[in-house]
Amino acid sequence: MYINSLTRHESSTLFITKENNEKVLYVFGRGEAYDSLDGEQRLLPGGEAKCCRMTNANAKTIRRLFPYTNPVRHKGRPFTLGLGDRLGLASAGHIRLIKDSAIDVFPVLAQQSMRELNLTNRTYEDVFSAAVWAVFQEGYTKGYGADGDHLKTRGEIKAALDCGFSMITLDCSEHINQDGDNIEAIYRGAIDHSINIYNDLIRGNNVDFEISIDETSFTTTPEAHYFVANELQKAGVEITSLAPRFCGEFQKGIDYKGDINAFASEFKAHFKIAEKAGYKLSVHSGSDKFKVFPIVYKETGRKVHIKTAGTNWLEALRTIAQKKPELFTEIFKFATANLSEAKKYYKITENTANIPDINTLSGDMLPALLDQDDARQVLHITYGAVLSSFKNAVYSTLNEYENEYYDALYKHIGRHIEGN
Ligand code: ZN
Repeated sequence: MYINSLTRHESSTLFITKENNEKVLYVFGRGEAYDSLDGEQRLLPGGEAKCCRMTNANAKTIRRLFPYTNPVRHKGRPFTLGLGDRLGLASAGHIRLIKDSAIDVFPVLAQQSMRELNLTNRTYEDVFSAAVWAVFQEGYTKGYGADGDHLKTRGEIKAALDCGFSMITLDCSEHINQDGDNIEAIYRGAIDHSINIYNDLIRGNNVDFEISIDETSFTTTPEAHYFVANELQKAGVEITSLAPRFCGEFQKGIDYKGDINAFASEFKAHFKIAEKAGYKLSVHSGSDKFKVFPIVYKETGRKVHIKTAGTNWLEALRTIAQKKPELFTEIFKFATANLSEAKKYYKITENTANIPDINTLSGDMLPALLDQDDARQVLHITYGAVLSSFKNAVYSTLNEYENEYYDALYKHIGRHIEGN
């Protein structure tokens, strides 16, 4: 039984428990909860109960019965952290950390881009429900966000809004003219696109709106950021956050590469622009950027949004490497063999020659592969292929070693919050 899930609704008692490696929700006592949740009736020593599966439909009912399980906006909250959960298994670990943290941080538990949805074969409904169930399981009542991340089209945004997401991140990359020869020429399309989307879909909706101009081949200069901010303000577009592309490299799953002093001085300028315009800077690909965090936290006084996603998948693989070395070895070989396909979707600069030959490693040496940058990058971006072949094994291992996975997340994401 998940003790923090134990709660009451009118005269009913509800809690989550695990049966045969699957989580189920029990409802004892007749009432609205009993009647509206879909499940199987059972006669148990404690009385008549309903055993409910943790489906999307039941998650919807839980949201209606327990309002705290709905995501909310984070505008006005200083330190906010995006914690994308590609598998739908990590959020409870994140919540345990957030609950214990001495530093006040608002979690955006659901955060998934279209690219991630497609590669993991999940729907926005699935992503949403996973967060709702985690919140319920952990009895977390302090509020969380749900981010439809890097959305490009009206259709995508509408789908995320209909689902109930509390944040929309508009990816403007296809409207940035990368060949333009001055700031107006480069960003005009992106600005117009943002204004149109805001007026058509966001205005009047109680959601956070983030503008992302980070997916470009060049750095966003403070001048360009100022220009974009100013044009949006003139058009009455109210944003919660904006993601510029900072100088240096923010590659997936590894630390910052580049001139950290140049980053510090540019970041400072970007922060001043954001401060003045009344929104937060958003740092994308924030996973594992340990060189960057001390600067970011010091400059902003922790008034910042940071997004992490794939590092949670790497911690899942670390747990698998520790508990099921043979499965991990199979996954690793498969990932290496499928690397070129994954590189169509993600840009990384791994050098596979640096990765030790897995056949020469003993079982207890496998988790160390998760500390080697090149191996991390390979595993970080091949999740789509790995899940299409090893989905059941990955899920059943992580369900079996659920607390070990939460502990790994607790430790690793904890370092992100503390900044060391
Ligand atoms: Zn981004």
